[in-house]
This record gives sequence, C-alpha cells and structure tokens, in this order.
Amino acid sequence: MSEEYFWWTEEQKAISKQVREFVAKNYEEAETYFWKTEFPWPLVKKVAKEGYFGAGVPKKYGGMELGPTGSCIVAEQLGRLYAVGHVFTVSMLAGLEQILRFGTEEQKQEWLPKIASGEELGALCITEPFAGSDAANVHTTATKDGDEWVINGKKRFITGAGVSGRYFIYAKTSDDPGDRKQYSHLTSFLVERGRPGFTLEKINPLIGFDNVPNGVINFDHVRIPDKNRVGEVGKGWNVMMAGLNFERLIGAAVFGGLFEDVVQVLFNYTKRRIQFNRPTLTFPGVQSEIADIIMKTKVSRLYTYYCAHLLDEGKEPMIEASISKLFNTEYAREIGVKAIQILGGDGLTKFLPIERILREAKVGEIVAGTNEIQKMIIYRFSAMLPLFNTNLRYRWNYDVNAPIISTRDSKFKGMEVNEENVLKVIAHDYKVSPGLYITPDDVREDIGGSRSEIRKILESLEEKKLIVSNKDRQGKTTLVKASYDGLQKAFPLSYYEWYPSWYKDSDKF
Ligand SMILES: Cc1cc2nc3c(=O)[nH]c(=O)nc-3n(C[C@H](O)[C@H](O)[C@H](O)COP(=O)(O)OP(=O)(O)OC[C@H]3O[C@@H](n4cnc5c(N)ncnc54)[C@H](O)[C@@H]3O)c2cc1C
Repeated sequence: MSEEYFWWTEEQKAISKQVREFVAKNYEEAETYFWKTEFPWPLVKKVAKEGYFGAGVPKKYGGMELGPTGSCIVAEQLGRLYAVGHVFTVSMLAGLEQILRFGTEEQKQEWLPKIASGEELGALCITEPFAGSDAANVHTTATKDGDEWVINGKKRFITGAGVSGRYFIYAKTSDDPGDRKQYSHLTSFLVERGRPGFTLEKINPLIGFDNVPNGVINFDHVRIPDKNRVGEVGKGWNVMMAGLNFERLIGAAVFGGLFEDVVQVLFNYTKRRIQFNRPTLTFPGVQSEIADIIMKTKVSRLYTYYCAHLLDEGKEPMIEASISKLFNTEYAREIGVKAIQILGGDGLTKFLPIERILREAKVGEIVAGTNEIQKMIIYRFSAMLPLFNTNLRYRWNYDVNAPIISTRDSKFKGMEVNEENVLKVIAHDYKVSPGLYITPDDVREDIGGSRSEIRKILESLEEKKLIVSNKDRQGKTTLVKASYDGLQKAFPLSYYEWYPSWYKDSDKF
C-alpha cells in the first residue's frame, strides 16, 4: 500500500486510493496481455474511461487538474499494469506539458480534451536514426508551403508507434548555421495518424517492453496545417526542453509502484521458501538485502514527489528531474538484481513478476536521455549554482598555524600594488595550498588594485619567469602560480617550513 504524503491535496490522496483499487482489480487482466504478448487495448480503454489520462489536464479542458504530482500518482500505480503504464506515460508526454506551456488557447481547446479522454494514444517523437543523445541533430524537415507544413524524414524508437493516434514531433525548420548554433533550427508539431504519406516502418523486438510496440515511423511529404505547429517557428528546442523535465519525472515515477510490488513478492516468497529447515526470510543476508531494497524504494519515491512538487510550483527542476530519473532507473536495476538473487532460480522465471524489472530498468537507463546525459545535465546545471560552485578562500591561521577557509581579508590587503607585493601574494598562496594555482581575481581580492594593473604586473612577473600561468583558448590568463625562483625571491625558505610538534629537530636538515 503506497504511502500518501502529507503535502498531497485531498484530491490527490483520493485519486491515489482510487487508482490503487483500479490496479488491484485489473492486475490479473494486465498480466494476461503480458503472457499473450498482446497490446492491452481493452485495459487501455478502461483506463481512459476512468479519466486517468486527464490526471495532469486542467479541469476546464476535461481533465482532473491534479498537476505533476497527480500525474506521478497515477503513473506509479498504472506502471504496475506493465504495458498500460508505458503507453499511459508516453501518451501524456506527447503534448500535455508542451501544449499547456506553448500552445495557443485554440490548440488547448482542441488537443487537451483529447489527451484527457484517452480516446487516442499519443507518441513522443524526438529520436531519429542519426539523432539520439544529440537530440538537436534532427534530420526530419518541415517546410512551409502556403498555410501548410510538409514533413519529410523518420523517427525511431518511438513508443506507441502504430497504436497511437497523435504524434508530437520535432522537425528542422532552418538550415542556417547561425540558427543551429542558437538552437533555433527546430519547431514542434502534432501529426495525426492517417495523414497521407505518414506510415509505420518497423516494430522493434526489445529486451523489455514485451507487449508495448516501439518502432520507426516515416514521413513522406506529409502535409499538416499550420494550426498543428506548437510554439513559435524555431522554438522547438525550448518546447522539447520544457517537456523533458516532465518526461524524466514521469519516467522515474512509473517505477515507484513496481518497487513496492517487488518488496511484497519478496516477503511473500521468502516466508514460504524453506532451506536448511528455515524460511529464507530468517537469513540475515536476505534481511539485509530486503532492507536495502526498501531503503531505495523509499528514497526514490520521496525524491520523485519532491521533484513533482517543484514542477507543481512552476519551477524548472532540471537537476532534480535528472536525478530522479537517474536514481530510479539505477535503483530499478540494483533492486532487480538483488530481488532475483533472493528468489534464486524462481526469480529468473517469468512466473514471478520480478525478472522484468531488470529488463525494464535497462531500458529506463537509456530512454528519456541516457543516464550519462543526465549526469552531464546534473553537472552542468550544478556548476552554475553558487551553492556548489563557489570560491573558497583559504587563509593562513597563525593561531593554529594551518590553512583554514576564512572570510577574513588577506594580510596583504591595502599594501602597495607592485610586482614585489603581488609576487608575495602568489608565493603565500603556495604556502596555503601548495598544489593549486590562484586566479588573477583572487590575487586582486587579496591585495587590491585594478584588473588592468594586476594583469600588467602578472605579465611582467611571467616574463621574468617568477610566475607560471595557465591560459584559456583566447590566450587570457586564467590562473597563476609562483615558479620555484619566484618562491625564493618572495620569501626566505623558512617562510614555507611547517613541521608537526612531534617531529624531532634532530631529523630536520
Ligand atoms: C525502449 C525504448 C523506448 C524509447 N522511446 C522513445 C520515444 O517514445 N520517443 C523518442 O523520441 N525516443 C525514444 N527512445 C529513444 C531514446 O530516447 C534514445 O535511445 C536515447 O536518447 C539514446 O539515444 P541512442 O539510443 O541513439 O544512443 P546514443 O546517443 O548513440 O548513445 C550511445 C552511448 O553513448 C553515450 N553518449 C552519447 N553522447 C554522450 C555524451 N555527450 N557524453 C557522454 N556519453 C554520451 C550514451 O550515454 C550511450 O551510452 C526510446 C528508446 C528505447 C530503447
């Protein structure tokens, strides 16, 4: 039974209960489609009838208006219905966030009720044969012809290919190198199934997604009206990025219910499996692994709903959505491996719904941006945050005779800004952190003076080989350090000496 968080609204709590009951009632049917490798159309229709496809759609467009948190609540439960969960999430991703944020009122009125009703499924189409992680390298083109756009190209790895009625695509609308550089070469469109020239090319046999069609679609001079363009021409990248936070979050949430199912299966199984005259549940090693799975289940879920809350509040949780996706898919793999080990041979059979989590986890680590790409996002966006990437100034603390991070001014502050004193600042930095360089700005902060004054002095010290520098591609000095000659010129050798109190004088030389 999934935990309801106290910050959820009453409506969100109610839907959580309702959808859990729905899943319990329909679990067996979902499993039959898994065994028959059959797309679960009748179950998808039942989900639509309940209105769950409208979890994130505002009420005025026929939805439940439960926001990203509500969408996660529904996704995590429907994820337990295997194929249903996959097409449910992807259907929401195929336009909901994009239209809410970039669509005109007319488009909202046309498309959002369709998304909410689930009368047709949606597919999200970013990936192409030559554009995977490098999602901007789209080759599919959209060319304006009067009031229409003509689409040519291919999209691959599309979940819901064929079974979907609505395809949210990103196409190239400019070949201008300047636009490409600015990421303003893409535009997003909605293409309906049935348009002449729009065909299905291939369905992939995959490691997971057993009864979920995933494949290649082809556009051969497919004509769509301009009203199917979402967002301005050239703004497709912004539309894609805005949609991706939601996609990563939902992609993470969908594992939440599965994790809880794994825990239930483990308790149920190990209580009944006797080896060495005792239930395997009583082995400390098994208990420790179950504890680890529970820990990961709880942490991942909490972080998912934290991220959902940020989206509810209208924030852009780039770092959090990436962490959530990365966490949950890596956890899914680890949980899958551990759970199978606890179950022994039975865990490897399809008779228990465990082996599939491992296969789905591997898919999860690649879809919605590979986990390497998530790490790139986490790193790049975090590097812009002063919370993480800040200037730590170590100062020599003469009381304890050691370098300590400090907000104090440097002891050189206010001295005359000349070569001799600037060299002292740089040499002193060797005493404080011998292996590191110092930035020209930090030198300036320590002694004062203008940027150009400091730059000229640094150039002169470098010419005299008293300092060495590190330069960027434009030849600008980014970091400096005293040379051995510079250290000697700045201070006597004794200035740099440091011995612990226990070190004997007799051992010094
Ligand atoms: C089952 C499934 C369902 C999918 N569903 C959809 C869908 O509905 N819609 C859709 O548009 N797409 C979908 N995809 C596509 C998915 O998003 C891509 O597969 C994914 O983005 C990775 O692209 P790629 O497979 O071309 O791998 P590549 O981009 O070729 O990557 C190969 C390897 O290189 C690494 N790599 C690439 N660039 C870098 C870098 N800069 N730094 C470090 N490492 C890097 C990757 O991390 C990866 O390990 C689906 C894929 C699968 C398998």
